[in-house]
Amino acid sequence: MSGGDKLDFEIRPNPRPVAAAERAALMANPGFGRVFTDHMVTIRYAETKGWYDARVEARAPIPMDPASAVLHYAQEIFEGLKAYSAADGSVTMFRPDANAARFAESARRMAMPELPEAAFLDSLRHLVQIDREWLPTSDEGSLYLRPFMFANEVFLGVRPSNEYLYMVIASPVGSYFARGVQPVNVWVSPTYTRAAPGGTGEAKFGGNYAASLVAQAEAIEHGCDQVVFLDAVQRRYVDELGGMNIFFVYDDGTLVTPPLGGTILRGITRDALITLVRQSGGTVQERPVAFDEWRADAASGRLREVFACGTAAVITPIGQVRYPDGEFPIADGNPGEVTTRLRQTLVDLQRARTEDRNNWIHRID
Ligand SMILES: *Cc1c(COP(=O)(O)O)cnc(C)c1O
Repeated sequence: MSGGDKLDFEIRPNPRPVAAAERAALMANPGFGRVFTDHMVTIRYAETKGWYDARVEARAPIPMDPASAVLHYAQEIFEGLKAYSAADGSVTMFRPDANAARFAESARRMAMPELPEAAFLDSLRHLVQIDREWLPTSDEGSLYLRPFMFANEVFLGVRPSNEYLYMVIASPVGSYFARGVQPVNVWVSPTYTRAAPGGTGEAKFGGNYAASLVAQAEAIEHGCDQVVFLDAVQRRYVDELGGMNIFFVYDDGTLVTPPLGGTILRGITRDALITLVRQSGGTVQERPVAFDEWRADAASGRLREVFACGTAAVITPIGQVRYPDGEFPIADGNPGEVTTRLRQTLVDLQRARTEDRNNWIHRID
């Protein structure tokens, strides 16, 4: 089955799904990424065959040879998106085609084969359909979908693998941060950077996260929830958080976010916010923000709000900023009006409670 964009999925329902009562207990307070559904998707790739053997089957451990390339050279990419229980009883996904496109871009950067968009979208649809009972119906709940792909060839030579395994798993989730929508404190790392020009910062690549963990640990040591990375060249401009993009809201209503350009992950939430704000007549500037400028504008009061955004946590207000020489609050440290309003706009849109002018909502029957 090489060349074609459409793959036929073999559906093998789990013969021993989790019982309804146990599922309800697991879903009562699922947290983030701890509870998983009954099924998974697997699609294989071989240089000689292309994409083949697409399946939906019982979620289970995957056998791996100790010489599988990913275990040595980390050729792995992923995506993250959610299925929502919509107001009208249907199931929605928000811009999954954008995730498909970004997955293909990440694959190119990591010298991996591109999964056709149709196969990516079908893989999500099949998994959500078969595991529909795992979709939370609460207001903050959703089914987090995690497509990923890794080098699966048994070979220790250093070159792109000839074999890959693409998978999707699903996890019912509540709110990303344990405390719900509360402002977070961020640590501006003086030690670590996330992405250099020419590097892998724009790919949704597992290694970027591996490299960010020690910085995140440094943030926690300093009493913060999340790390903010500065640019790797001048250590001056704000790039983003470990897994979220960042926006600044000024007193004249203008929003500012650092520009894409290779070192920042091309967030779909970021793009949606820019589009929505501009469509409603607001101003968004994509321009570099120096850390000094951030501190000065927070002190003068010109900067009113700062928030982080991404699929997992939607929009998270930033209340306090810490760095080696001190700290400063953003306004009074509470969630700002613009932050709160944009969060609601996005949540309403994702759950099909408001008009979708941009055709971003995909429904799953
Ligand atoms: C996934 C991710 C984001 C957010 O992207 P969304 O498409 O909005 O979920 C931001 N930064 C990094 C580093 C990411 O990996």
